[in-house]
Amino acid sequence: MAKLKLQDLDLKGKKVLMRVDFNVPLQKDGTISDDTRIRESLPSIQYILEHGGAVILMSHLGRPKAGRDPALSLAPCAKALADLLHKPVQMAPDCIGPEVQRLAGALQPGQVLLLENLRFHPAEEKPESDASFAQKLAQLGNVYVNDAFGTAHRTHSSTAVIAKYFPDRAAAGFLMQKEIDFLINLVEHPKHPFHAIIGGAKVSTKIGVLQSLLSKVDAFYIGGGMAYTFFKAQGIAIGKSICEDEQIPVAQKFLKSCREMGKELHLPADIIVADAYKPDAQQKTIEISQGIPTEWEGMDIGPQTISEWTQSLKRAQTVFWNGPVGVFEFPRFAKGTQSIAEALASLHAITVVGGGDSVAAVNQLHLAPKFSHVSTGGGASLELLEYGHLPGIDALSD
Ligand code: AMP
Repeated sequence: MAKLKLQDLDLKGKKVLMRVDFNVPLQKDGTISDDTRIRESLPSIQYILEHGGAVILMSHLGRPKAGRDPALSLAPCAKALADLLHKPVQMAPDCIGPEVQRLAGALQPGQVLLLENLRFHPAEEKPESDASFAQKLAQLGNVYVNDAFGTAHRTHSSTAVIAKYFPDRAAAGFLMQKEIDFLINLVEHPKHPFHAIIGGAKVSTKIGVLQSLLSKVDAFYIGGGMAYTFFKAQGIAIGKSICEDEQIPVAQKFLKSCREMGKELHLPADIIVADAYKPDAQQKTIEISQGIPTEWEGMDIGPQTISEWTQSLKRAQTVFWNGPVGVFEFPRFAKGTQSIAEALASLHAITVVGGGDSVAAVNQLHLAPKFSHVSTGGGASLELLEYGHLPGIDALSD
């Protein structure tokens, strides 16, 4: 990676302003239901503390609608972090302003301050609306670290914009470094055969990555709701299955490119269909060559597809997976996605999973340790694969 790293910075006596991703799921009573994101930021935080720095953390949480929203305060994260670090974490009343400046100014090496939700200020997401916001944040620290890969695809004040106030002092944290190394390696130097499994609801959100992977990947597996647009594009009846009609020409073009470039393309050979989009719907398995009957919709890949795909994946040296291959939120239609997760976990290959729902499936099955890399950013990982760079990474010092 050609970007400055946390370990390149001189941290002694410095106030390190670090963008983290504490956008954790909260229950109604404010308890954190999954603290993975906080835990994942610990290596960078601990490293800074051990090397004589003070840490000023900033993050967003949820999508506050109109400025301050007490339900989206980061205060529960300060408490959770204090428990994990076994040391006090001060909670700031805001992320900018005189009181925050005072708290940051008084911070001593070894101490931790967490700023309040950045998105309480609209300028976080719309830097152009108030250029002084990023500048005010920047005034709080001597060096800047970005460890929030999940927002690196956004040009926000605390990610892409702030870095310019830290020339030669804007570095990638450990989590960010790991994400970049794995994902950039995947596009630049994949070990072949390189297979990509792309699922999820829509072609429109995944076609960019499919197209940019065309020249790199040896075999594609297309599952999930996306597959039905591809079936319809080939004249196969899809019943009530999810479909984006306007994407049919795009799907046809992709199928043609695969043929011309000699890429393997696996679409499901059999499908679990349901008579309604609900967890307890009637279901049956059909061969896709027969088409899906009018009143039925495709919900998951079938047993024959599972067996063919898991067998074929054994040839891969590298696998990238994004998106569930069925409606995995309904347990009766989760078998395909679970089988893919299990098959990848058992491979002796580089296995990278990116994207919220496929990561959730891997975590549900406690298989994350068996993957080479489980990306923390769905949108960010797809955009990094698609464009080869992201605004939040580009902004860091070379
Ligand atoms: P994405 O965020 O694009 O990766 O899409 C994930 C969503 O795709 C999940 O909520 C799945 O339930 C949904 N999905 C997967 N397969 C299907 C399908 N056959 N029909 C409808 N939705 C699906």
